[in-house]
Amino acid sequence: MRCLTFIMIAAMELGGTKTVVAVGGSNGTLVDEFRFPTTSPQETLMRAVEWFTEKGAPEAIGIAAFGPVRIDPKAADWGTLLATPKPGWNGFSITSFLRDAFPAARITLETDVNAACLAEARIGAAEGLENVAYITIGTGIGAGILCDGRLLHGALHPEFGHIRVPRKKGDDFAGICPFHADCLEGMASGPAIEKRWGKPAQELPVDHPAWETEAWYLAHGIIGLLAISPPQRVVIGGGVSLAEGLHEKTNTLVRELAGGYFPAVNESTYVVPPKLGQQAGIRGALMLTLTNFQPAPHPPRH
Ligand code: ZN
Repeated sequence: MRCLTFIMIAAMELGGTKTVVAVGGSNGTLVDEFRFPTTSPQETLMRAVEWFTEKGAPEAIGIAAFGPVRIDPKAADWGTLLATPKPGWNGFSITSFLRDAFPAARITLETDVNAACLAEARIGAAEGLENVAYITIGTGIGAGILCDGRLLHGALHPEFGHIRVPRKKGDDFAGICPFHADCLEGMASGPAIEKRWGKPAQELPVDHPAWETEAWYLAHGIIGLLAISPPQRVVIGGGVSLAEGLHEKTNTLVRELAGGYFPAVNESTYVVPPKLGQQAGIRGALMLTLTNFQPAPHPPRH
């Protein structure tokens, strides 16, 4: 019997509070995964390397990382975390660490939200669509954008959370973004909700005015997306998105604000929850390794 070579694909989702490592297939199928808290860069990456080594040295590694991070494979500082407030991570190179551990592995790096967007667009709530936005609302706000079947990068990568949004009438909340105060993240992230209402999002009842306010800011952010890289569908995930009715409220407001101008929003399922839940990021990271939606990956070191 002829034996086929098994190509193991490894993936890592590096998050601000937790890290997920996995092995599986490039179609996003998870074979095995392990979750652990994100601590210092060296400790976190070493834990990932040890887990991968136990599974057999990987030939390909897909990484979905929190940002800001240099994802351009041609840049000298490819794989380096930039101005992150997370202690110890600013200037740390994720890819250098992994290339030292696995010099022959083909490494692909994306933002966590772009990876989640890819997974939702290929096997999730926006399956089959080529223009998709995946927004996450948790400790921050971010978005991954698939535009014409390719993940959007630009000069760095989208920073949707820092888009400027008009204030809701009568809203005098100062906002909590350390850079811009009242950008979208400053007005509508989990910590912003808690500071504004004195309670964390999960303790606010479904009829609390917090949710009208939340939908207002999200809908204005989505109008910005519609004007520049129009998605056919918007998937909203992250802890805050678990609030009952938030997707419907946001969908209604987006349609009102669109004023009949953006045809994509005429569907009642324009703003939807994720289908892959918490697994979108890691499954997207597996899918990064063999797909051809972005520039050629950084060559392995020989
Ligand atoms: Zn900001």
